Amino acid sequence: MDRDIAERKLAELHAEMRRCRRCLDAGYPITPRAIFSGPATAKIMVVGQAPGANEAKTGRPFDGPAGRRLFSWLAQAGFDEDEFRATQYITAITKCFPGKKGSRGDRVPTAMERRLCAPFLARELELVNPQLIIPVGRIAISRFLGKVRLDETIGNMYECDGKLVLPLPHPSGANLWLNRPESRELLDRALAQLHALKKELSV
Ligand code: SF4
Repeated sequence: MDRDIAERKLAELHAEMRRCRRCLDAGYPITPRAIFSGPATAKIMVVGQAPGANEAKTGRPFDGPAGRRLFSWLAQAGFDEDEFRATQYITAITKCFPGKKGSRGDRVPTAMERRLCAPFLARELELVNPQLIIPVGRIAISRFLGKVRLDETIGNMYECDGKLVLPLPHPSGANLWLNRPESRELLDRALAQLHALKKELSV
C-alpha cells in the first residue's frame, strides 16, 4: 500500500479507536481512551496486553514502571527510547485501561474484551505491515503463537503470516517469572536476537 494512503487510513483508524466505547457498552469497567503510538512506516510493532493507569493518564503506551523496564530491555538491544517511540509502533491487545483488580494490580481483559478489540489490531497490522512483531506478555504472545509456555518461547524467533515474531515476557513487577535466573538467561537471549535484528532491519 502507498505510504501516504497508509498514513491517512491509519489516522482514520486512530480516530475510530479513540471514539470506541464497545467494552464500556458491553458492561466492562474500562477507561475509554485507546492508547497507542507510532507511524505507518514503522518496521517494528510492539503489542502489549493493555495499558495501565499511568498510560491512561498520559496517553503514552508503556509509560509506567513496566514501561521503564521494557525500555531498559530495548536499550540492551541497542534502541534509544525517544527514537523508538517516534519511529516504531506500539499498541496492545486491548487498547483501553481495564481498571484495577482489587489491590492486586490491573484487571486482565476478558476474552470478550479481547474479541471486541481484535479487529483494531488486525487493521493496525494490515496498515503498518511491520517486519517484526514483539508481543509482550502471555496474552499478547498467545495472539500470535497460540497457548505456549514462556520457558519454551522466550529466546526463540517465530514467523507468523510472513512476519517475524520475537516474544518478550511482561515487564510488570508482578511477573514472578522474571525473578528466576534461568528466565533472565532466556530474556538475554531474546534481547541478543533483537540486537541482531536491529542491524538486519536497519532501524
Ligand atoms: S478496549 Fe478496544 S474495543 Fe474496548 S473500548 Fe477500548 S478500543 Fe474499544
